[in-house]
Amino acid sequence: MNFHEYQSKDLFAEYGIPVPHGKVAETPEEAVKIAQEMDADMWVVKAQVHAGGRGKAGGVKLAKTLQEVEQYSKDMLGMKIETYQTGGLALPVNQVLITEAADIEKELYLSLLVDRANKCLSFVVSAEGGVEIEEVAKTSPEKIHTLHVNNEEGLFPYACRKVGFAMGLTAKQVGQLAKIMIALHKMFHENDLALVEVNPLIIDDQQNLIALDAKVGADENALFRHKKLAALRDVTQEDPAEAKAHEHELNYIKLDGDIACMVNGAGLAMATMDVIKLKGGEPANFLDVGGGATAERVAIAFKIILSDPNVKSILVNIFGGIVRCDLIANGIISAIEEVGVEVPIIVRLEGTNVNEGKKILNESNLSVISADDLDDAANKAVAAIQ
Ligand code: GDP
Ligand code: MN
Repeated sequence: MNFHEYQSKDLFAEYGIPVPHGKVAETPEEAVKIAQEMDADMWVVKAQVHAGGRGKAGGVKLAKTLQEVEQYSKDMLGMKIETYQTGGLALPVNQVLITEAADIEKELYLSLLVDRANKCLSFVVSAEGGVEIEEVAKTSPEKIHTLHVNNEEGLFPYACRKVGFAMGLTAKQVGQLAKIMIALHKMFHENDLALVEVNPLIIDDQQNLIALDAKVGADENALFRHKKLAALRDVTQEDPAEAKAHEHELNYIKLDGDIACMVNGAGLAMATMDVIKLKGGEPANFLDVGGGATAERVAIAFKIILSDPNVKSILVNIFGGIVRCDLIANGIISAIEEVGVEVPIIVRLEGTNVNEGKKILNESNLSVISADDLDDAANKAVAAIQ
């Protein structure tokens, strides 16, 4: 789950990481009031959406007067922002963050992430910030420094300082960087985060390091023990289908292909997607309906799948371990009747009561294509769209 910049900065402030003074507004009047009460002569108006790249999309504006604060807030509130990070969605701006403007001497990059390849948390740091880090990685990889944090030993200040000196910071800034990195690492652990990105981390005109932007993502699976963070969820920033799936505790991720999958179990869902690709098809989604695949959940799953206009066929792959195949077959039939599915549906059932399940599907007068195994199902799903 991702957070807004202002929420991320509140978390930073709790851990003593320096951020510019700021407050969030929902109307232009509120924005002006916030700016007025701030001891500043220049402000930044920042659209709050769950994505970076706002600057280029008109979502970050420097205001020299209160009139400009009002005008920019008016322009941004209600607008929709699409950037290279929004995954094709246009995200609505419901709030703007008003901050005092900082004088930027230099923009740096700092992030902390789960490094699966090295089985640890790693810092990625660069003296070249404010730009897309992917670009820097491509054009000048030597400017990027990585610090792996040993899981048992933890993070040592000397290791942070080494990174700071490698970036060419002054002794004072190196000390500040180490403090920020240690605070971020503590914050990451204590809140079960998945990602923290500060782009840019700036050196201001007083030669101090300040987090000018903040992006935090939390591990969904640990949110149950962080009620305060869980409450910050903003569904307006999520893909509507994914948000609906989340609400019904279905695991759904939209993809670019045209063969939808409905599967029980994440591993089986991955295998199903692999076999679809092997047969020359492209999966339209990942969908795990879970172990307790009831008729109701199957119906919701069909609705979510069909909300994607790219879907040309649906492959249902259910293994009846905990659930019985005859129950699933009935669920599929009532779901199809309720939702009115018009694309071909290929069903592969296996496991408990499989013969009863197949019989129910065959005897229904719905155009469900029955498959013997996954290989057969994938062939039929690919053939169905051609
Ligand atoms: P993003 O485009 O969504 O990543 O939004 P950022 O918060 O990173 O802002 C984009 C860019 O706007 C930054 O890289 C800065 O160059 C500029 N910017 C943001 N805040 C300030 C500020 O307080 N002062 C100045 N001078 N520039 C700023
Ligand atoms: Mn940024």
